[in-house]
Amino acid sequence: EEKKSLNFIEQIIEDDLNNGYNKEQLKFRFPPEPNGFLHIGHASSICLNFGLGLKYNAPVNLRFDDTNPIKEEKAYVNAIKKDVEWLGFKWAKECYASDYFQQLYDWAVELIKQGSAYVDSQSSEAIAAQKGTPTEPGQSSPYRERPITENLELFEAMKNGETPPRAHVLRAKIDMSSPNMLMRDPVMYRCLHEPHHRTGNDWHIYPMYDWAHGESDFIEQVSHSFCTLEFQPHRELYNWFVEKVSHEGELLPKQREFARRNLSHTVVSKRKLLRLVEENIVNSWDDPRMPTISGLRRRGFTAASIRNFANDIGIGKRENMIDVSRLEFSAREDLNKTTPRVMAVLNPLKLIITNYPEDKTEQLTAENNPEDPESGSRQIPFSREIYIEQEDFREEANRKFFRLKLGKEVRLKNAYIIKAEKAIKDDNGNIIEVHCTYDEDSKSGSGTEASKRKVKGTLHWVSVPHAIPAEVRLYDRLFTVEDPTAHKEKDFLDFVNPKSLEVITAQVEPSLKTAKALEKFQFQRIGYFCVDQDSSESNLVFNRTVTLRDSWKN
Ligand code: ATP
Ligand code: MG
Ligand code: MG
Repeated sequence: EEKKSLNFIEQIIEDDLNNGYNKEQLKFRFPPEPNGFLHIGHASSICLNFGLGLKYNAPVNLRFDDTNPIKEEKAYVNAIKKDVEWLGFKWAKECYASDYFQQLYDWAVELIKQGSAYVDSQSSEAIAAQKGTPTEPGQSSPYRERPITENLELFEAMKNGETPPRAHVLRAKIDMSSPNMLMRDPVMYRCLHEPHHRTGNDWHIYPMYDWAHGESDFIEQVSHSFCTLEFQPHRELYNWFVEKVSHEGELLPKQREFARRNLSHTVVSKRKLLRLVEENIVNSWDDPRMPTISGLRRRGFTAASIRNFANDIGIGKRENMIDVSRLEFSAREDLNKTTPRVMAVLNPLKLIITNYPEDKTEQLTAENNPEDPESGSRQIPFSREIYIEQEDFREEANRKFFRLKLGKEVRLKNAYIIKAEKAIKDDNGNIIEVHCTYDEDSKSGSGTEASKRKVKGTLHWVSVPHAIPAEVRLYDRLFTVEDPTAHKEKDFLDFVNPKSLEVITAQVEPSLKTAKALEKFQFQRIGYFCVDQDSSESNLVFNRTVTLRDSWKN
């Protein structure tokens, strides 16, 4: 295998291993907040953390950062677990920040006793107004010097829900003139009289991200805590909090940052994805148009294609926009190797082979996947009446049209050479059927001279009496512009593509009758399709994953 050079995150770990860390100390975590479904951006973080776990044979925890009961739900926890598993990763421990609420509280009490935290009874507006600016120091709260005993009493009352909702917060006492605004006495706890999906009504105070995250890493003895770049200024505070509760000789987790990955023509933010769901622009979090892991799965993307995509774009230090065509490329690459080929006609035009016997049905042999010799072959019925694509026939066309035109021949895939004789039209001049003749000796694989005859163009088809109608959902990009969030004066929903879903009825070969949800196929000459969860034997439903080629480029 080709040896790839180390990315900067791996370099940090290698440096640490060369400077005193033991391999056994390495531990990572993936820390989603259960306030929505995971999206393709999270896949980068998952592949980074779990990839490091595999590379260094180190444990990786799945940690739910569940400190905000207002937005979090058990259903999101379950969806997240399913998605990480489906991506192919195993976590060492399933952890919850909420499991540490008592420990965090006890530590907060310690901080108060040390004179490092105090209860502030001002409004959040007043606190914000005193923060100062990056170049001017902030103003101290009038409660900053509140006596320790009073702080302890108030904090306990807050915890027990005995104080009004917004009356007090607990703040760390750090430095109101720090050049880092986050160090100017950040809030550690706020009061919320909200039930939590795991701790119920046990708590009336909830820790803020900065207080909970580093301490959770410390409790779990995570060695390297990777987060996205916007947390870089938080690192100083992360370290301050961890140092406050740790003792000589203990392993302190390290926060390091990498760039968020953005995908073009969509949004990767749970908050924005939630709006798409709530405002019924999509049907659900797992709508196949969503950039969620569950949406991509339902659409037909394989776990391997998502992992490959994440690894190909890699880990960076600067935010950038990845074109969605790279994700589609990754899907094609994997699906080409793995999917059976079948025939389906999306826009049917009926052909009648006038010299083929009326009551005859032949079973023809078709290879399942030329990329996979193990995949074998299947039988497909052929008869006098077949469907081809409307786009595959023209009465007249130039030399470059290697499909069917009057007086010319094409091969029907796995079947015979046919020649178009006559186009039958309705009163409006629309072609409703085409009469053809076939060369009886030209059957594919029969070994005859005629079967080896070269004709330009091979068409896919299905036999009319054997075809099964199927609902096919054709997806297009969810947004019409590369970055729907780039226009500050507009709402990202202004750029929703009104044609992101087109539903048609296709005619598919009968072998597909028993296809089950999530089964994937290449519809020959068209694209990759996946059976939707709404599908049944009596009402087949397929999602188009991607077209065969990147039609957006040319
Ligand atoms: P969102 O804005 O979508 O809610 P988030 O960062 O708040 O994203 P978390 O649930 O906190 O979501 O994310 C879990 C982990 O995934 C974090 O470490 C976060 O940094 C990482 N992550 C989230 N979005 C991306 C992205 N677009 N690219 C890379 N990593 C991401
Ligand atoms: Mg977050
Ligand atoms: Mg978020």
